[in-house]
Parts: sequence; structure tokens; C-alpha cells
Amino acid sequence: MLNLNNVGKTYTDQNQGRFEVFSGIDLTIEENQFVSILGPSGCGKSTLLSMVAGLESVSEGAISLEGNDINQPGPDRGMVFQEPSLFPWLNVQENVLYPIKKRLPKKEAEERVNHFLKMVHLSKFKNHYTYELSGGMQQRVAIARALAMDPKVLLMDEPFGALDEQTRHIMHDELTKIWHETKKTILFVTHSIQEAIKLSDRVVVMGTRPGRIIADFDINVSRPRRRDDAKVIELENQVMDLLKDEINKVLKEELDHEASH
Ligand code: ADP
Ligand code: MG
Repeated sequence: MLNLNNVGKTYTDQNQGRFEVFSGIDLTIEENQFVSILGPSGCGKSTLLSMVAGLESVSEGAISLEGNDINQPGPDRGMVFQEPSLFPWLNVQENVLYPIKKRLPKKEAEERVNHFLKMVHLSKFKNHYTYELSGGMQQRVAIARALAMDPKVLLMDEPFGALDEQTRHIMHDELTKIWHETKKTILFVTHSIQEAIKLSDRVVVMGTRPGRIIADFDINVSRPRRRDDAKVIELENQVMDLLKDEINKVLKEELDHEASH
């Protein structure tokens, strides 16, 4: 459904000149799949997700959704960021309504808003301003807003990274439930091994310098997943070993660089 074909990203800036974040990314994601992109910070996860969202240009290769090339944002892709980025001057209901109100008849748009606010358990708070809500509630508004656009793919960039651990666990259960109910395809970026393995059908591991895909794991563990499940622990250890090598490589490069200057 979502296809990345030999995708690369290069930034050009005045100081460093050309900087290649990654290249040669090949990835095919099936409809309804929950896929996590996992990797150390700086490997290009956010850049890759922004390219799928159409917010960043593609330097090399191509990205397509159901056969159509992606080169700009569109309602077929809903994005949720680490910061909920809601409008403080609108209430919860108006925030969710905002991206769809020009595209849909009023009644239909309002019904959708109500439907998704119910799904994220915020009906009671629909007239509240977003600053009156906790971080977890704000992120649920952002998820409802993305879902209300009825996108084909939900793109999430470390959406629970700023939440406390307890809230994060609750949000994991919520998202799993929403995914079952909506049957959305989800592309989820995280640097947390536990989070990736707990949530996903598939974990794509990225390495750094140069950014690339170093592994692709199928997570064949029934849900709900327990942290002490033997299979979960084994997968976590496998991924941890892979990433340890990557992180050590970066540290070594930095130390060598310092020693030579
Ligand atoms: P991640 O999300 O995995 O932490 P990012 O995608 O944010 O990584 O960044 C990957 C690399 O690209 C980093 O080295 C970052 O400094 C660089 N980068 C990101 N955005 C830009 C930009 N607009 N201009 C130049 N370099 C950038
Ligand atoms: Mg990032």
C-alpha cells in the first residue's frame, strides 16, 4: 500500500555542504499493518516520516501511496507529532473539526468529530480549551484530529515521548484499541525498543552514519502483549544487541574525531 523505493535524503547547508541523512531505503507496508521505525536519535526517523507526510522533499528515489507518488501533504496521510500542536484559542471540539470543516458538509464533519472524540474518551471535555487538559489528553485530541480526516495512513512521530511512563502505558493500550477499531495503517516512529515491540506487527530498525535499514522484525506475539512474555524479552534483546553496535560505532567515531583535532 505504502511503498518506499530506494529513498534518500540529502541536506545542503552553507557550513557542512552536502549532508546525506540516509539513502537506499526500500520499504513496503501493507494495508492495516502497524509498523514501527526504530533507531538511535539522529538516524533520520523524523526526516523519513516527514517525507512520507509530504512535508519534506524526496532527494532520491520515490514514495508512493496506493500507486500515487507523494510530493506534498494530503488528507490521505494524518500526522501526529511529539508535541500535540493544537490551537490554544480553539476548544477540543473545534481543534478536531478544524482540518475537515472546509472539506465536509457541516453535519457530517460534526458527526465525525463526535465519533472520534468518543473513541479517545474525550466527549466530556469537548468544550474545554486544550491548556486545561493533561499531556496525555492533548495527545488524544491530536490523534482524534488526525483520525477525523479519515487518512489511509496514520503517521506518528514519537507521539508519547513527552508523557510520563504511566500515561504512556495507558496510551499504548488506547492506540492498540483504536488501531483494531479503525483498521488504519500506522507508521510509528520511536527510539524505544520496548514501545516498538509492544505495539507493532513489524519493527524496522534503522542504523546511523549512514542512515539505512539494518533489520526488519516480524513481531508474531498475540495482543495484549505482556512485558514479561518470553518472546517479547527475546526480541527486545535481539534488537538491543543490534542497536548497541550502532551506538558504539557513533561514539567511537566521535572519540576518534576528537583525538585527531
Ligand atoms: P531522528 O528523528 O532519527 O532523531 P532526524 O530525522 O531528526 O533524526 O535527523 C536526521 C539527521 O538530519 C540529523 O543529523 C539532523 O541534524 C539532520 N537534519 C534534520 N533536519 C535537517 C535540516 N532541515 N537541515 C539540515 N539537517 C537536518
Ligand atoms: Mg526525531
